[in-house]
Amino acid sequence: MKVLSILDIDKNLLKGKRIFLRVDFNVPIENDIVVDDYRIIKSLATIRYLLDLGCILILASHLSRPKGINLNYSLKPVAKHLSNLLNKEVKFIEIYESNYIDYLKKVQNEVLKLKSGDVLVLENLRFSEGEEKNDTTLIDELYKLGEIYVNDAFGTSHRKHASVYGLALKYNIRLAGILMKNEIDYLYKVKENPTKPFYSIIGGAKVIDKIKVLENLIKVSDKMLIGGAMAYTFLKVKNVPIGNSLVDSESFEFAKEFLEKYQNKVILPIDHVVKNSVIKEVENIEENYLGMDIGSRTIELFKKELSNAKMIFWNGPLGKFEEKEFSNGTIEIAKYLSKLTKDGTITVIGGGDTVSAIHMANLKDEDFSHVSTGGGATLEFISGEEMPGIEVLKNV
Ligand code: ADP
Ligand code: MG
Repeated sequence: MKVLSILDIDKNLLKGKRIFLRVDFNVPIENDIVVDDYRIIKSLATIRYLLDLGCILILASHLSRPKGINLNYSLKPVAKHLSNLLNKEVKFIEIYESNYIDYLKKVQNEVLKLKSGDVLVLENLRFSEGEEKNDTTLIDELYKLGEIYVNDAFGTSHRKHASVYGLALKYNIRLAGILMKNEIDYLYKVKENPTKPFYSIIGGAKVIDKIKVLENLIKVSDKMLIGGAMAYTFLKVKNVPIGNSLVDSESFEFAKEFLEKYQNKVILPIDHVVKNSVIKEVENIEENYLGMDIGSRTIELFKKELSNAKMIFWNGPLGKFEEKEFSNGTIEIAKYLSKLTKDGTITVIGGGDTVSAIHMANLKDEDFSHVSTGGGATLEFISGEEMPGIEVLKNV
């Protein structure tokens, strides 16, 4: 999959241009303050690259799911936060209009006054109902804001929304930002052409949510290590005692066939941290006990296996990591992957909860080859789902 990015085209085509830059600024805000700026930080590489070329930036994002205009979901706090991060003025035009189209007409006038190096954050795209509907009226008005289209919002690229799909199609020059390019390069490699031996680690809550991910990854994996709650569905169909652990009864059939077909590739946990009135580590889960994390022998087994890999993809926490007593397996494997990364293994991590878990373990994105910001979009990409926001960038 070859997508043209801002790094691939002649800088002269970008210099001094007014850029419509679709970013993912869908960040948590409390009392008008951004409480987690991870996604904003991730867009800085693209923003800085374009500012160095003297571009004028119109930054557009959605925030949460407002139904129409609702100032509780304003991007104003984000503009302020970005201004602090960039250490320069970031303009924000407030919305007083009763509809988003009128607001955009006002912004169009202001945009013409902007000068090289100016940055403007647009109000929440989802204040317009047309955003999620890929509406042409909205698209036509957004189109008047920029001369070139750049998309760095990988986390929204699985949606056919106006700002990521219809709008992009109107531009002759429609490019991936740096974050988008990295996401596509790494995840495409995982999906289609991983460096071998390639190992995948899959955990998390439910098998049913990840059937397509499992099916796609097993094809390219030399080994697949399964942990987390979803391991109990697989253990159950193998008649291994799992006590009262969570299972996904609608996935029994799938799990059974999967294990039969790929028995030489799949590795399941061999011991567990379980809870009832007490917490303990066991090899066989007794009645009334719940499996909450992989045990220490499993951690050792997983590490031994992973030491053979040249490339690893990991999605899904290996236990209920939000509770300290059950976070050990996830943290130990995260630390081990960061060690392997230093030794030259290519490591790619994705999934909303998995990324939270590695941050909770005090590891940084730089400790791995690639940490995907996409959450649901990452899994859809790996599943082979259509990614409209990427498809539109391809044809440049
Ligand atoms: P991701 O968002 O990274 O794709 P998932 O959403 O599939 O991951 O799964 C994350 C959830 O799975 C977490 O909330 C975690 O607590 C839960 N989980 C993992 N293992 C267990 C377990 N053994 N028991 C209960 N919950 C678990
Ligand atoms: Mg999740």
